[in-house]
Amino acid sequence: MTDPHFTEEHEVFRKQVRAFVERELAPHAEEWERAQIFPAEVFRKMGSLGFLGPHFPESVGGGGGDWWHACVVAEELPRSRSGGLTMAMLVQSCMATPVIADLGTPEQHAEFLTPALRGERIAALGISEPGAGSDVAGIRTTARRVGDDFVINGQKTFITNGTRADFVTLAVKTNPEIGYGGVSLVLFPTDVKGFHVGRKLAKIGNHASDTAELFFEDCRVPARYLLGQENQGFYYVMRNFQGERLIASVSGVAGSQLNLDKTIEYCRERQAFGRPIVGFQVWRHRFVQLMTELEAARRLTYHAVDLYDRKVECTREVTMAKLFVGDVVTRCADECLQAHGGWGYLEEYDVARAWRDTRLFTIGGGTSEIMREILTKLSGL
Ligand SMILES: Cc1cc2nc3c(=O)[nH]c(=O)nc-3n(C[C@H](O)[C@H](O)[C@H](O)COP(=O)(O)OP(=O)(O)OC[C@H]3O[C@@H](n4cnc5c(N)ncnc54)[C@H](O)[C@@H]3O)c2cc1C
Repeated sequence: MTDPHFTEEHEVFRKQVRAFVERELAPHAEEWERAQIFPAEVFRKMGSLGFLGPHFPESVGGGGGDWWHACVVAEELPRSRSGGLTMAMLVQSCMATPVIADLGTPEQHAEFLTPALRGERIAALGISEPGAGSDVAGIRTTARRVGDDFVINGQKTFITNGTRADFVTLAVKTNPEIGYGGVSLVLFPTDVKGFHVGRKLAKIGNHASDTAELFFEDCRVPARYLLGQENQGFYYVMRNFQGERLIASVSGVAGSQLNLDKTIEYCRERQAFGRPIVGFQVWRHRFVQLMTELEAARRLTYHAVDLYDRKVECTREVTMAKLFVGDVVTRCADECLQAHGGWGYLEEYDVARAWRDTRLFTIGGGTSEIMREILTKLSGL
């Protein structure tokens, strides 16, 4: 059943995205997973079709739609059968760029945002560091004001799109003496002297996406690349997290639904003891349990999207959605693998890849423990 939030126009858009994903991405998933990268051309293609910024205003090169358009893309990308590719695209469209639309000057929009939405410049979001992931206020990369420039020194890690990003939406300390009050956001072009990419990190899943260490040694960027106000970066990062967590949740539920549907199909065919696997009550019960939990996860997520789209404060709902989805999708991936028996343990089955890729959901973009911490504070406990 289509959710009433998706209009006929959203559904027409969905058909276009689905056709593209099934025709141009899915057939290459195996090859790109094995290569541990996909062609940069995919950013351009997605951008030229309007799939990277359907929810951004037309004035900055977006499609002028709403957040439900972004959800359509996030729900269709998992049909590529590559969590890595899905993650890379969502970083470009919903994690590294919205804060530029919100806070950027017209010059910053023209130089960074518009080319990113067209897929002409690859974007990354640089917050995590070797010594600070959950604890954003603990970052140590510094930006010192020297004349009309910032001089940046430090290191980032776990950065998606990191090996080939043209720019990084970068969290830095403009006042290293203090915690969250000293964080700022800077737009960092990666052709600046003193910048280099370190290791491309070998991951257990999301293989088609590149995840890298970034190093900054006396990198000078013009002070006009500061996003918003100096020392307000922590608040901007926290606000940006809401969209990031939400779109990951939307995509996670859709990908898990696909995985569950395919698993049920498999279990209708596969026989043991003279009957299909779905002929055993234990499996029928597990499947309907997962259907129920995925539906609940989807409804909670859509509720948060609705509030977010209408710009109603929804940190509580987004955090609950991220927490709940993380729990449901990791369990769903595990049960789907189990339902395949030994075949699920083989690389050649999509269910194995889904299991590896899905494991990230309780970690990336804020762990489940941090979600519980946020909810604890919001509940006044
Ligand atoms: C594949 C991948 C892609 C990523 N992409 C990006 C990216 O593009 N940009 C970016 O900036 N980052 C990215 N990250 C980083 C990700 O956001 C962090 O890994 C995540 O926020 C957790 O930080 P950490 O790894 O430093 O864990 P830590 O903060 O070291 O946490 C370790 C453990 O301690 C727990 N813990 C920490 N604090 C508390 C607390 N107060 N109470 C209870 N438990 C706590 C955590 O929940 C976790 O279980 C990516 C990570 C991965 C794996």
